[in-house]
Amino acid sequence: MGSRLGFISTEIEEMKKKGLFKVPPILSSPQGARAVVNGREVINLSSNSYLQLTTNKKMKKAAIEMIRKYGVGTGAVRQIIGTMDIHEELEKKVANFKGAEAVLMFSSGVAANSGTIPTLVAEGDVVISDELNHGSIIDGVRLTKAERKIYPHLNMEALEKVLKESSAARRRLIITDGVFSMDGDIAPMDRIVELAERYDAITYVDDAHGEGVLGKNGRGIVDHFNLHGRVDVEMGTFSKAFGCMGGYVAGTNDLRSYLIQRARSFLFSTSHPPATVAAISTAIDVVLEQPKLFDKLWGNTKYFRKKLQKLGFNTGNSQTPIIPVITGESSLAQQLSTKLFEKGIYVNPIVYPMVAMDKARVRNIVTAGHKRKDLDAALAAYEEVGRELKLI
Ligand SMILES: *Cc1c(COP(=O)(O)O)cnc(C)c1O
Repeated sequence: MGSRLGFISTEIEEMKKKGLFKVPPILSSPQGARAVVNGREVINLSSNSYLQLTTNKKMKKAAIEMIRKYGVGTGAVRQIIGTMDIHEELEKKVANFKGAEAVLMFSSGVAANSGTIPTLVAEGDVVISDELNHGSIIDGVRLTKAERKIYPHLNMEALEKVLKESSAARRRLIITDGVFSMDGDIAPMDRIVELAERYDAITYVDDAHGEGVLGKNGRGIVDHFNLHGRVDVEMGTFSKAFGCMGGYVAGTNDLRSYLIQRARSFLFSTSHPPATVAAISTAIDVVLEQPKLFDKLWGNTKYFRKKLQKLGFNTGNSQTPIIPVITGESSLAQQLSTKLFEKGIYVNPIVYPMVAMDKARVRNIVTAGHKRKDLDAALAAYEEVGRELKLI
């Protein structure tokens, strides 16, 4: 075809040879604890919809009503004429929920990171980052000319050492995931904040997996550690536990005003459709009205993790509804996932480069929507396949 894109075909072939070419599974049902994946009804252990709000009746109703009132789109970026009263109201409501002065919405969590990080640091500054931070943090950091220092996962001695060594920098920014997405462990925010205060560094937490999961009514990691007012930048997303779409940054009024002037992913991107705004707003009501959702989420989490451990699986240092079953070898993770799927359990394999070469795993995500009998069915399948693959 005379295409200059021949290199793409070559690269695709290479990926396929290495087993790195992935085809997304197709969901033909709502995102729920039970779902239809690639045409098969399964118990779904791979969704980030921790509270099952993706299908919440009240939220669906609010979204439909808002479409009737405000239409399906906003037709402009926020700074032109895309800011509706409902956007501003939502930001105030989220700030209130978070116990922060102000909140600014971004089209996604990825956009929140790529927009915010480069406004905080530049040449002459140092970004200090946990080695297992999310790809969107890494990309946000790549957009700055700041120097990068990576510390070993959760290692506070190493973090302190970097802080001591970088005292000549104009500004230091410590950035971390709140809940780590592949391991389900929690950053020691209390200790990070102590160090930041001692060494005068800015703190930034990406709490994508902690929002709607940790803290009172799902207020997130800052609330979990009772650090209100002591973490400079709290980034989150409505795409996971809140079941909708959209990132945000919570902090001071000045931070919000500054991001409105400077954050490029905010400035150049159209605002959220009214339906999404209504759904998010109603999600906040739902988590405040239904604390039982959290009892269910955490009850399921503890139950499933304990049972997996009892069977003899290695669940690493999971402390949250993200529960990996670490197999080590990539091919074992693939096989485990495939065989579980054959038994009606959908769980994602996570292999290099998502995790280290020898730390392949399948990643279970437990939600408030799972019934005990779903979890028991999954555990029975795990026991059978685990024996077959000699994992237990
Ligand atoms: C999912 C995720 C994001 C991105 O959020 P989206 O709203 O899906 O763009 C950012 N950071 C972390 C740690 C995540 O897990």
